Amino acid sequence: MATKKVKSAGRFKERYGVKIRTLVSKIEKTSRARHECPKCTKNTLKRKAAGIWVCKNCDVKIAGGAYQPNTPSAKIIQQLRTGKFEDLKKQMRELEKQEKIQETPKDQTEDQTDVQKEMN
Ligand SMILES: [Zn+2]
Repeated sequence: MATKKVKSAGRFKERYGVKIRTLVSKIEKTSRARHECPKCTKNTLKRKAAGIWVCKNCDVKIAGGAYQPNTPSAKIIQQLRTGKFEDLKKQMRELEKQEKIQETPKDQTEDQTDVQKEMN
């Protein structure tokens, strides 16, 4: 049963903790969604198994990420294969920034409150 709070992970009822269930629902939202097919450019690419994506329109079978057709690291590998790694360092920096933002959202809010206290 899908719930309001954890959506598709509601089938686990109260087990495993709310944090893990929200993570599962997030992943299942992308893995169960239809994505754009790289061959026919229609929104008909669906996940068949872990890393296997099949287009419902043109029956093309693609190897991709386990839960999403394209992963950030796969893009870098593709650029390395095609020899287009001029702006690879820029992308690596952006990825590192994104990871830092995702890791420390609580610390930033704490810093902001400290600044506000000092202002007062
Ligand atoms: Zn297709």
